[in-house]
Formats: sequence, structure tokens, C-alpha cells
Amino acid sequence: MWFSVITLFPEMFAALRDFGITGRAIGRGQVNVTCLNPRDFSFDPNRRVDERPCGGGPGMVMMAEPLADTIRHAKELAEAQGLANVPVVYLSPQGRKLDEAGVKALQQYDGMILLCGRYEGVDERLIQLYVDQEWSIGDYVLTGGELPAMVLMDSVIRRLPDVMGDNASAEQDSFVAGLLDCPHYTKPDTFEGLDVPEVLKGGHHLQIEKWRFLQSMARTEARRPELLKDVELSKQQTKWIAEAEKDAAVAQKNIAK
Ligand code: SAM
Repeated sequence: MWFSVITLFPEMFAALRDFGITGRAIGRGQVNVTCLNPRDFSFDPNRRVDERPCGGGPGMVMMAEPLADTIRHAKELAEAQGLANVPVVYLSPQGRKLDEAGVKALQQYDGMILLCGRYEGVDERLIQLYVDQEWSIGDYVLTGGELPAMVLMDSVIRRLPDVMGDNASAEQDSFVAGLLDCPHYTKPDTFEGLDVPEVLKGGHHLQIEKWRFLQSMARTEARRPELLKDVELSKQQTKWIAEAEKDAAVAQKNIAK
């Protein structure tokens, strides 16, 4: 996957390049990240890329011309790599909210040109003429598009084949199968009076799978019940739910006695 990031603060992307799974994916050449600074494409002797808003009001607006030149250069770089499927993505609080389905859709591209706004945002004409998609990371406003770009990149990179140590580990994460993830435990067996659930220590794989699934269901029901309407259950999972309901009814009866 190829990313060209248009940003006034290229140094910020060291956070993605130099650490953890994303850093390793970049180091191994599975992911390529180039940063382009629109100041390098400014026609202004002081490398200015922002101006006061037309019509007055607070703040500054990023000018269309240096951004258009930067995007054109990024497209040339993509072409030189033989990449055809490379949309221009503007990170914006007004865009489509990023979620698991969005990450999956973005994964299909050969690469992306990510435009990070600053100040009050970007001249609207640049968006109309050059931007293919707008993505938001949530209903709140940050000072710039760099953190949203890194959030988008991280979420896409970790789902690429062979980027995680174990491909299966991403499959059990929250949202992938429509549910929240189950709780996780590790050593020691007892921590400040709380034990690791007995079933996780027994080595019975089917029982462990059943417990994890039922925990995921219960968590999703408690925390994000709206997710449940889109969940497709296997025959086995439907059976486990029926068994759990039966067990709960028996327990209820015993309490009543
Ligand atoms: N005036 C803009 C608005 O209210 O829609 C917000 C501008 S914001 C201060 C500056 C830049 O940060 C935006 O151009 C965008 O690139 C980025 N940004 C801020 N919040 C974001 C979010 N929730 N998702 C994606 N990008 C965001």
C-alpha cells in the first residue's frame, strides 16, 4: 500500500514510521509513506500557503494553488510507481465517518493521496476540483488532519495481509465480525483478588471459543446494542446462545426456589 501525505508537518508522521506494527510494515516495504509539504510548492517567497478568508471572519484558509500543485506532484509519483487506483482523500470533520466497513473499502486501493488540512480548512474550490473522498475520524474538530490521517493509515495498514504477526489476531478484534471483542487475560492467575476465568485455564478449545463468543455477545448487548442487528450468527453460535439462555433460566428457577 502506497501513501502520499500532503502536510505542513511531515515530522509528525515519524509516529507512524518509527514505531510498532506500522513501523515494521514500512521497514519491510509492505507500505510506502511519502510526505509532501505544500510549502515546497508555494509561489510565495515566504512559502506561505494560507490566506485570510474571503468575506472576513476569524482564522486562515489553506490556498488552492499550492495544494493543487502538490496533489499533481503526488499523482505523478503514483503514476511513476505504476499505481492507477489512488484516490485523493481529504481528512475532514465533514466527511464520511471512518468505521470497519470504511477501512475495508479503503484497503482495496493501491494507494491514497491524503490531504491534511490546517487552520479553518481548505479553499472549497480545491475540494470540488481535486478531492475524490472526504473521511472524518469522528464528530469533533482537531487542529489539523495529520492525526486523522495517521488514524486512517494505521487502521488500513494493520488489516493488510501479513502485516500483523498473526493474521487471525485482527479477525477477532471488535467490529470485524460485527461484535465487540471478548475480555482478555494473561499471567498471573490472580491479580489483586481477581482470578482468570477457570474456562480459559482448562485447555478445552471449543469451551474457550464458546465462552469468548458469549462474552462478546454480552458486551455488545451491554455497550453497543445497535451493532447486534447486523450480526450474522453461525449455527454453532445460535446453539451456544440457546444453551446459555437455558442455563440462565435454570439458574433463575433455582434462585426462586
Ligand atoms: N472549519 C472546519 C470545520 O468546522 O469543518 C474545521 C477545520 S479544522 C480546525 C482543520 C483541519 O483539521 C481540517 O481541515 C481537517 O483536515 C482536520 N480535521 C479536524 N477534525 C477532523 C476530524 N474529526 N476528522 C478528520 N479531519 C479533521
